[in-house]
Amino acid sequence: MTALNVAVIGAGPAGIYASDILSKSGLDVNIDLFERLPAPYGLVRYGVAPDHPRIKQIIVALYKILQRGDIRLIGNVEVGRDVSVAELHEHYDAIIFSTGADTDAPLNIPGADAPECYGGADFVSWYDGHPDHPRTWPLEAKEVAVLGVGNVGLDISRVLAKHAEDLMVTEIPENVAEILKTNPCTDVHVFGRRGPAQVKFTPLELRELGKQRDVDVLVDEADFEYDAGSEAALKSSNQQRQVVKALEGYAMQEPEDLTASHRIHIHLFQSPAEVLTDDAGHVVGLRTERTRLTGDGTVEGTGVFTDWPVQAVYRAIGYASSPIEGMPFDSKRHVIPNEGGRVLGEDGKPLTGMYATGWIRRGPIGLIGSTKSDAQETITNLVADANAGLLHATTDAVGHDAMIALLSSRDIPFTTWEGWELLDAYERQLGEDFGELPNGKTRERVKVVNRHAMADISRGKQAPQDLIGQPDTDRVPERVAHRLPAQD
Ligand code: NAP
Repeated sequence: MTALNVAVIGAGPAGIYASDILSKSGLDVNIDLFERLPAPYGLVRYGVAPDHPRIKQIIVALYKILQRGDIRLIGNVEVGRDVSVAELHEHYDAIIFSTGADTDAPLNIPGADAPECYGGADFVSWYDGHPDHPRTWPLEAKEVAVLGVGNVGLDISRVLAKHAEDLMVTEIPENVAEILKTNPCTDVHVFGRRGPAQVKFTPLELRELGKQRDVDVLVDEADFEYDAGSEAALKSSNQQRQVVKALEGYAMQEPEDLTASHRIHIHLFQSPAEVLTDDAGHVVGLRTERTRLTGDGTVEGTGVFTDWPVQAVYRAIGYASSPIEGMPFDSKRHVIPNEGGRVLGEDGKPLTGMYATGWIRRGPIGLIGSTKSDAQETITNLVADANAGLLHATTDAVGHDAMIALLSSRDIPFTTWEGWELLDAYERQLGEDFGELPNGKTRERVKVVNRHAMADISRGKQAPQDLIGQPDTDRVPERVAHRLPAQD
């Protein structure tokens, strides 16, 4: 029997874990791991906050998997643009989609389309140096609202409230560092629509918030209310009890200890009702409605509204996946419809040879580790289908070499694992070249942002002078295109 050719689409943790589990499944298999960016690691590189080096260490484990060489990375290739799903199926017996989530869940309240009402995922992409996002960010607000009490809301609040020099030890690109130095923000107001027992922060990240230099975290004592649903949630989850303890710690601080020049205010039981704008359409405030618990941990509005003077609003109410051209998509849940990772067609039956794993499969919830169990189930089902003789490419032009020939014939500047090692070394050198910072620390790396520069360095070409550059206009998502500099 000849080896099975499998394409995995998306080289974030989900795709890498799935590839690793598949490679150890006992099947005779060749795995090509496609990635639309010239660099692997998905949200670990472009989602984890730059001042979270501990979480970035997951890259060490992912690196070890790819460094073995049996999983072949094909970077800078976008499925649905450079190569279609149908073409992939001509070359591979099975395709696993692990494209994650890259955009913001929609918020349908009046004023949400104001120019200073930003998607949290877009802000994260900007500060993490995503090649397809504009290089500037309008940091002009002194008071900011962040909607959503999950870890993305925490990341955004921390980056906005922190003094820019405290972010300099990190890998943030130069353009981001320069803009953060001009950030006038002193007060970040974070809003949760439910109570302390329903907050989605994790304890470590919430405690860390209080350790930022010259930043106070404030919580109102009046925001600690519980119903039967809350009591049950706290009883069953040590993690949630830890979160509540950390919130209580912030609420119990003595006023004379709160002397920082920057503040993060966490407001609970406040549901966003309207983004307030002036006559010119610019954000001047946020209106929230006080909520109360109804018994099972859900809330209802009380009809009591508060207006908060803020000049920018960041939505951190969850990520959403984008559809892939040629694949079914559930536009309500923002996932590829599937059963146990087997993709379902319109008739509800499995599409032979098509699988999904990670956030595109189950939605944008759970820490990076939960992606492993997800991948395990998807691969178990793929192996069962392979053993049942169900998996076949749609033509004889199968496998890696034929795919590379197709990409080359289209002049697509694809990158490889060896190419990533070149870019990785280049970025580390940039960090080293920076020398010692005033605080005695050094920068581990400085990210190259420009897609062409990333591809050129990866392909062993002379590195261009401008490593930041401007994004390709046709790759910038429509929702943020207005932030591109005006064309002559
Ligand atoms: P999340 O944990 O699901 O939090 C989303 C928040 O938005 C919740 O508080 C939710 O409230 C709120 N929300 C949703 N719709 C809303 C609406 N219409 N109005 C007001 N609030 C609304 O999502 P996330 O913060 O995007 O994080 C995604 C995953 O990545 C999580 O598992 C997270 O832990 C992980 N992550 C981890 C880190 C880290 O440093 N460890 C960093 C970033 C992300 P309800 O609960 O009431 O729906």
